Amino acid sequence: MRIRAAGFPSRKTLDDFVFDHQPSLKRDQIIHLGGGLFLEQARNIVLLGPPGTGKTHLAIGLGIKAADAGHRVLFGTAVEWVARLQYAHERGRLAEEIVRLRRYGLLIVDEVGYIPFEQDAANLFFQLVSSRYEHASLILTSNLPFARWGDVFGDQVAAAAMIDRIVHHADVITLRGASYRLKDSGITTLPSARPENTTE
Ligand code: ADP
Ligand code: MG
Repeated sequence: MRIRAAGFPSRKTLDDFVFDHQPSLKRDQIIHLGGGLFLEQARNIVLLGPPGTGKTHLAIGLGIKAADAGHRVLFGTAVEWVARLQYAHERGRLAEEIVRLRRYGLLIVDEVGYIPFEQDAANLFFQLVSSRYEHASLILTSNLPFARWGDVFGDQVAAAAMIDRIVHHADVITLRGASYRLKDSGITTLPSARPENTTE
């Protein structure tokens, strides 16, 4: 029931994950995180890396483990989370919503960075992050390094304050390599998110 309520976009488990395909990843670290101690300690996990490297898969796998262990879990994309907070905010219920979300031991915020937010999103998101700081865990995934989160949130100051709280007690895991989705496609590179490869 907890797994169903979490709203995972698919069922991916840590057991399905092929660690040989992701040599930059420490298998022991993931297995250890799967043990769930990070939830007791209200620590966060941040998964960074290019598309298709398994960030969402690992986030779901860890989320399923947490649900199995009895924690309430809620999964959403960053865009979905902002929409949810905005909805509450417009109805004057932001504080109530944030308190309600504290009953969840784990919130998963997938895909920070694919879509830039409007400025008030930074503020809403910052409030969510602060409310969980040292109380309950977050797992975040992003295709962008922290240095570029300011651009995503349209607010460098709020992004810096948010990252500061997220990483204070966190495992930050960087995935590398080619997309697993493309592994049999013959395509070896995708457009990069690095600024030197953009038209800016
Ligand atoms: P990301 O979120 O980093 O873009 P996903 O986690 O969605 O990537 O992975 C893309 C697809 O490839 C998913 O179907 C996922 O299950 C699969 N996948 C990625 N990495 C691995 C891996 N190391 N072992 C098994 N499946 C993987
Ligand atoms: Mg993903």
